[in-house]
Amino acid sequence: MTNASEYAKKVQEKIHQRSNHEPEFLQAIDEFLPTIIPFLENHPEYQEHNILSLITEPERVIQFRVPWMDDNGNWQVNRGYRIQFNSALGPYKGGLRFHPSVNLSVLKFLAFEQIFKNALTGLPIGGGKGGSDFDPKGKSDAEIMHFCQSFMTELAKYIGPNQDIPAGDIGVGKREIGYLFGTYKRIKQYDAGVLTGKPLEFWGSQGRKEATGYGAVYFAKHLLADLSETLENKKAIVSGSGNVAIYCIEKLYQLGAKPVTCSDSNGFIYDKAGIDLELLKEIKEVRRERLTEYVKVRPNAQYIEGSVWNFDVEAELAFPCATQNEINLDSAKRLVANGIRVVAEGANMPSSLEAADCFVEAGVYYCPGKAANAGGVAVSALEMSQNSQRLQWETEEVDERLDGIMKHIYQNCRDTAIEHGAKDNLMLGANIAGFARVAEAMLIQGLV
Ligand code: GLU
Repeated sequence: MTNASEYAKKVQEKIHQRSNHEPEFLQAIDEFLPTIIPFLENHPEYQEHNILSLITEPERVIQFRVPWMDDNGNWQVNRGYRIQFNSALGPYKGGLRFHPSVNLSVLKFLAFEQIFKNALTGLPIGGGKGGSDFDPKGKSDAEIMHFCQSFMTELAKYIGPNQDIPAGDIGVGKREIGYLFGTYKRIKQYDAGVLTGKPLEFWGSQGRKEATGYGAVYFAKHLLADLSETLENKKAIVSGSGNVAIYCIEKLYQLGAKPVTCSDSNGFIYDKAGIDLELLKEIKEVRRERLTEYVKVRPNAQYIEGSVWNFDVEAELAFPCATQNEINLDSAKRLVANGIRVVAEGANMPSSLEAADCFVEAGVYYCPGKAANAGGVAVSALEMSQNSQRLQWETEEVDERLDGIMKHIYQNCRDTAIEHGAKDNLMLGANIAGFARVAEAMLIQGLV
């Protein structure tokens, strides 16, 4: 038998050959496989069963046409997808993303990450992801509804409460989930548990909207507690201005920290006095407008074009909550030079591979998305439990469980890293801990 490192390399090379047109998926693979080697060295049975080849291949990839009519009567066509990547631990679970950047590569990377994220929650959910290259920006409510109805008309064939349970992601919030749910119900039947992130008016869970952002901050809280520190008075750089960023900012304030930035795809706000959360919510959640509106009300704040990660501001905490690859190597070096000590990823894969390595080498506590942003999907799984019980839990109960789950994930990553001789390398800890749970279930289930 070749050694574990040669084995991982061979599998990695083969994936590169077969998927060389899928850069984001390859990036996720390249980040993941090398970190699994210490585990494989201790567990030769996984290598004997060629588990890496099995686990990196999606169980099923679905692609479909989404035709819809715009407000001017024009016929439009988008691509719809669902990647059902791994069901060893439970039904496929993961969000739907509506964004022009969506393609097979992006969704395969997201679905691959989702498998291990979901495993880390300790809950019985497999990994999947889906979406469309549909751009919701500038679309009317009617157009959004027509698109969602067409998308679900096809997707409904492949999902169900015990089969595959989509939720939101970028461009998909409770409005879209409402329309998707309505169409699913019309085609099939009333299955409350077929989607999560549902509105509170029908079967949604308290705390789901806040869960990803809150969870990322809880993760940082438990990490800091280990260092006998709190979030109190610590300055934070936050990117994004969607659901994840807004509730990350909210929880940072609740725990005494000071978030000074947020961003959209054109630029970012730097508000030295701290981001005005109510104003941000009003602009993004109620008015659905651009961030440039913020400085009209807060003239002392600055709106600066470009990436927030190219901006020099001293801070101890960074919460990238926008999208993949927003932090490159140069930005990572800049963050290190500006005194960053903790990077907790609210988004999926916001740091490039080089950036992540830079953080780890510089001794920054790098909390990868699959661990730090698992709060969202964890509360989705709690929503599924509530739907099965025909109950809606109180906010406090959901929040307490979320905090407990994030604590468990952090401790699992920390202890797994130590166990494999890589203390403080939470990326390695997260990858191995997630992998171990999925791989074990796969071996028990046999070659399927
Ligand atoms: N889209 C979220 C994620 O990236 C949540 C998925 C879910 O709730 O199923 O984890």
